[in-house]
Amino acid sequence: MVGLLVLSGYYISKMSDLLADRAGKIDASGIRKVFALAAKMKDPVNFSIGQPDFDVPDKLKNEAIKAIQAGCNKYSQTAGDAEFKEKIARQVSEEYGWENPATLVASGVSGGLLLAFMALVNPGDEVIIPDPYFVMYKHLVNLMGGKCVFIDCYPDFELPVKKIAGAITSKTKMIVVNSPCNPTGMVYSQKNIEALARIATEKDILVLTDQIYEKFCYDGPCPSIANYHQKSLLLGGFSKAYAMTGWRLGYVAAPAFLRDVIEAMTMIQQYTFVCAPTPFQKAAIAAMDYDVSDFVDAYRNKRDMLYEGLKDKFELVKPGGAFYAFVKAPERAGGATEFVEQAIANNVLIIPGNVFSEKDTHFRISYATSDDKIRQGVEILRNLAEHQ
Ligand code: PMP
Repeated sequence: MVGLLVLSGYYISKMSDLLADRAGKIDASGIRKVFALAAKMKDPVNFSIGQPDFDVPDKLKNEAIKAIQAGCNKYSQTAGDAEFKEKIARQVSEEYGWENPATLVASGVSGGLLLAFMALVNPGDEVIIPDPYFVMYKHLVNLMGGKCVFIDCYPDFELPVKKIAGAITSKTKMIVVNSPCNPTGMVYSQKNIEALARIATEKDILVLTDQIYEKFCYDGPCPSIANYHQKSLLLGGFSKAYAMTGWRLGYVAAPAFLRDVIEAMTMIQQYTFVCAPTPFQKAAIAAMDYDVSDFVDAYRNKRDMLYEGLKDKFELVKPGGAFYAFVKAPERAGGATEFVEQAIANNVLIIPGNVFSEKDTHFRISYATSDDKIRQGVEILRNLAEHQ
């Protein structure tokens, strides 16, 4: 026994010698705890998963199969398949009025984010991040030795433009905007997007706009800051809209005057990811013309079921997009993590808000699951709220 302890102590001290300092700058504690509890659950209501419950449409699967059979199995150009890049550039030009935009195909938006932060963030640089936020932003800034400047968006989760303006300093490198937002489901208003664009333009600050959920927008269009602010780096994805999270495809686009940023990112891709998966790039060309409005209608319905089911028992803002709701845990539960533990004990898997925030007052629901499971989950959560 003593021998084992000594052995484990020896192992740990050696491990800290082995790991680079940057590995200590990230942690996964919040999610790990949930997954450890989840491993014991039988047929749970799984409100934790950040991916659609439908499968890739058959037409697009066939395009991938055709590409593989036709021999598109080698590396593509580092920046992506030429035809795919051209199509992305055409779409971006039409959408944002950018003439001859610079583009890069990445291994998911995650890949694009890593390349962007590597290319842009120096140690000590400040990155403004509305809180709650998608988890990667914080950890990537920390990995680069940058400083996250979180802007509190509670309780309505709109873009707090004045607070963002007040947080800009000479060290501000960029502002991150994610609409529709993970984890709140917020679609930022036209007015706030335009107001932020005015400030970013006046201060000449780069805005990284993560638009991976842009197709999942339920109550009207999703305004993009790229329409109002020239110095924008746009990240778009395929994972969510076509349920191809495992295909690892995304893209980065910027107006021509930011070509050097895209070039720097491409160079880093050359020595890291090399390229995005080639046959799936071919299939994604067809995906860009594929109409997903039936899926979006089904998800609007799920959003309504969830919101109507919870709104009289919980404090929650009606989400306008993505497939998440960010719900306030009942005060009497003693904290969001405690409420999440109770929910998990009752077979509903949700994620505590502190995974996506500097606060621990809310929890995230992903309603990307069957209507039956949503009904079950709503019932269980309502019961829990009543019995605090
Ligand atoms: N951005 C946001 C806001 C996300 O929610 C996700 C996935 N959960 C990603 C980027 C990354 O997606 P992917 O790498 O699959 O394209």
